[in-house]
Amino acid sequence: MADAESYVRAQVTKVRGVVQGVGFRPFVFRIASKRGVAGWVLNDSSGVSIHAEGTAAALATFTKELRDLAPTAARIDSIDTEATTPAGFHDFRIAGSVDSEVTSAGISPDLPVCDDCIAELFDKADRRADYPYINCTACGPRYSIMHGLPYDRRNTTMALWEMCASCASDYGDPFNRRFHAQPVACPECGPQYRLHDGSSPQLVGTAAIHAAADLLNDGKIVAVKGIGGYHLACDASRSDTVAALRNRKFRKERPFALMLRDLESVRRTVELSPACEALLTSSARPIVLARALITLAGVAPGMSELGVMLPYTPLHLLLFAHGAPERLVMTSANRSSEPIAYRDDDAIQQLAGIADAFLVGERPIARRVDDSVVKIGTAGPMLLRRSRG
Ligand SMILES: [Zn+2]
Ligand SMILES: [Zn+2]
Repeated sequence: MADAESYVRAQVTKVRGVVQGVGFRPFVFRIASKRGVAGWVLNDSSGVSIHAEGTAAALATFTKELRDLAPTAARIDSIDTEATTPAGFHDFRIAGSVDSEVTSAGISPDLPVCDDCIAELFDKADRRADYPYINCTACGPRYSIMHGLPYDRRNTTMALWEMCASCASDYGDPFNRRFHAQPVACPECGPQYRLHDGSSPQLVGTAAIHAAADLLNDGKIVAVKGIGGYHLACDASRSDTVAALRNRKFRKERPFALMLRDLESVRRTVELSPACEALLTSSARPIVLARALITLAGVAPGMSELGVMLPYTPLHLLLFAHGAPERLVMTSANRSSEPIAYRDDDAIQQLAGIADAFLVGERPIARRVDDSVVKIGTAGPMLLRRSRG
């Protein structure tokens, strides 16, 4: 007779917190496979459910690793485990999602493009080189593309695009960085950016991004569709352009936020303390207020501080790589009294008298997200306006 330790037991585990859209199911799959645990994991309306079968020792290690090794983007609020009857599974699977009216699952906020994706973005040999919608389970949009829960592609604005064979293979491979990355896409199968500048035919893809960077260099105002809405962008070092933006936007005094090409550019623009740097590079990628080292006429009239942020989407990085000025005004594309524009038709209509051109991404935005604004106070960071992160 086998000793008690070798009996297969089963447990049901419910994980609550921010566990959807952060690669949690692939993570569960990997630790289960490593520990010889069979069963399944699925997203449900309040988080992730796991049915796990294995020896007592395997289940104990598996349960411990669930908490200890969870993806960094996840935030676990609770893990509840109950014993159940073994069903005799032979392997571990990622099951489909359970639909429910209840929607309390924590969904990850949008995440800035990760280093792995940046490396591919600028690797000419990669099939996603120069592709503004590159993403993986560690980065990219979540909240802003989600129509509902559970967080599956069919419930996002990416449902409009069918994956090509290569993307489907990435999506289906548990050992691929894009395993179950819901917004996975590539230039073959996914959305693109287009430049609306009155010329016909419209420029598409890399040509559109390159032309937008040229327009910014020429002192033009370009409405740029970002992850959670439109920004109005222009060269912050050109006082004539900044003044034109201020006049057209009816925003006589309020300061404009800046997007700076990289940390070097930040160091030449504001006093960068270690605390500021940590905030600027944090996953929320907020606008950080810091003491100005230079004067940019018209950007923040009468103020000693500038609001600066770093590029956080592949598109932003591509604009700079294609030669956009290193200091861009990046202000929410609304007239002072209106909410940030996020629907293409609304944006084009609202901004017709403000922007000289529109860099419009085809992927719809399901929910508007503003940039948050943070300042380092004597007691640490103070959130002046919350949004992403
Ligand atoms: Zn990534
Ligand atoms: Zn593809």
